[in-house]
Amino acid sequence: MRRLLVANRGEIAVRIIRAARDLGIETVAVYSAADRGARHTTLADRAVCIGPPPAPASYLRHDLLLQVAEATGCDAVHPGYGFLSEDASFAAGVADHGLTFVGPPARAIEQMGDKAIARKVVAGADVPVVPGSDGVVADVGEALRFAADAGYPVLLKARSGGGGRGMRVAKDAAELERSFPLSRQEAGATFGDDGVYVERYLPRVRHVEVQVLADHHGRVGQLGERDCSLQRRHQKLLEEAPSPALDDRQREELCAAAVRAARAVGYASAGTVEFLLDLDSARFFFIEMNTRIQVEHPVTEMLTGVDLVAWQLRIAAGEPLTLDRVPARGHAIEFRINAEDWTQGFRPSPGTLSAFQPPAGPGVRVDTHSFAGATVPPHYDSLLAKLIVHGADRDEALRRSRRALDEFHVAGVASTVGLHRWLLEQSEVADGTYTTSYLTERT
Ligand code: ADP
Repeated sequence: MRRLLVANRGEIAVRIIRAARDLGIETVAVYSAADRGARHTTLADRAVCIGPPPAPASYLRHDLLLQVAEATGCDAVHPGYGFLSEDASFAAGVADHGLTFVGPPARAIEQMGDKAIARKVVAGADVPVVPGSDGVVADVGEALRFAADAGYPVLLKARSGGGGRGMRVAKDAAELERSFPLSRQEAGATFGDDGVYVERYLPRVRHVEVQVLADHHGRVGQLGERDCSLQRRHQKLLEEAPSPALDDRQREELCAAAVRAARAVGYASAGTVEFLLDLDSARFFFIEMNTRIQVEHPVTEMLTGVDLVAWQLRIAAGEPLTLDRVPARGHAIEFRINAEDWTQGFRPSPGTLSAFQPPAGPGVRVDTHSFAGATVPPHYDSLLAKLIVHGADRDEALRRSRRALDEFHVAGVASTVGLHRWLLEQSEVADGTYTTSYLTERT
C-alpha cells in the first residue's frame, strides 16, 4: 500500500491520515465545498474537491470517489465511519476497480448490515441474541403474535437501521398497532428500506461492546470491551473502559462470544460486536455488529497502546495479525464534544469557532479537526472533538477528566463541554451505575 484515498471528513479523516503517515503511506483527501480549508485537507499530501456540500452530492458519490482514487494513483481506500463505511456495494466497487478496501469483505458488511440476518448468523454460532421475531415481520399481525408470546414491552427496530434512529418502544398491543406503520414509514424514509423486526425491550441495560481485530488469514482477536451506556436517545455521548458493570467471568464470556460472532461472518479488519447487559438477569445479548472503525475506538487504544487504524491498514495490506492477549492498563473515558446546545434539546449549533482551546497534559488525548476560525458546517454530524482521558484507575480517570474539561474552551458555537462537566457531578456517573436510559430521562 503506497497511497491511500481517505473517503471521509472531520476528525476521523485526520485520524486516518495520521495513521497512514506513521506507516509511511501517502494520503489523498477529498472534500466538499463546505469543507474547503478543513484540517484533513491541509494534513493530507493532496486534496481534491468532489462537489457541493450535501453529502449525497459529494462524500456519498461512489463514482466520484473511485475516479479520484484512480486519477491520483491511489491503491487503497479508507471509508472511516458513517458515509460509505458500511455500504457493501461501495466496498465491492473498490475491489472491482482493483483497489484495496480498508475494511471487511463486502459479504461481511452485507450480512451484518441486515440486522435480522445478523441475529440469525450469530445465534448459529452460539451467541445469545435479544429474544426477538424470527427475522423481519411481514405485517402488524406477526408483530402482535410475537409480542403476545414474548411479553411487553417490545421494541420495533429497522433492519437497516443505525445511529439509534428508527426505534420505537411499545408497552402494549394498542401502542404496537399504532407504532408499527409509523416505524415502517420512518425506516423507509430514513434508510430506504422499510423492513422492521421486533425485540423484547429490556428496560435496565448497559450497552457493552467488544473491539475485535481480524486478519485475512483466519485469525480473530479481541481487545476487550467498552461501556457505552451513557446515551441520549440511543446516541452515545460518553464511553469508558473497562466496563464498571462487568465481572471477570462475564468479561471473558462476552469477549469469547464476540470472537465467535466475527468468525461466523468471516470477518477481517477492525469491527465491534455490540451487546446489551441486562441488569435484571445479569445476562448479555447480541444486538448488532458494526463493520467499521468506531468513533469510540481511542478508548481501547488508550487502554492497550494498540493503534487500531494502523492495524486496519496493515491488515488490508495482507499482514497477519500478531496481537495476542494484549493486556489492558488502567481506565479510559471518552467525551464526545459536539456542536450542540444541550440546554436546548441538543439542537445542532453550526457556525464559526471563535475560540478552540483543547486540554493537554498527562493522560489526555484530543482527536479533532477543529481550530479557532474554522467553520462548523450544518451539513454533517456535529462532532467537534473527542476528549479521551486515561488514569491508573477509574477514580484517577474521573479526576483527570474534570481537570481536562475545565481546561477545554470552545466559543462561537454551543458545545457539550458543559454537559460533560455536569455529568461528572452526578452520583450515577461518579459511581458507574448509570443505565442506557439515564441521560434521556434527565435531559
Ligand atoms: P443502532 O444501530 O441504531 O445504534 P442498536 O441496535 O445498536 O441500534 O441499539 C442502539 C441502542 O438502543 C442500544 O445501545 C440501547 O441503548 C438501545 N437498545 C437497542 N435494543 C434494545 C433492546 N432490545 N432493549 C433495550 N434497549 C435497546
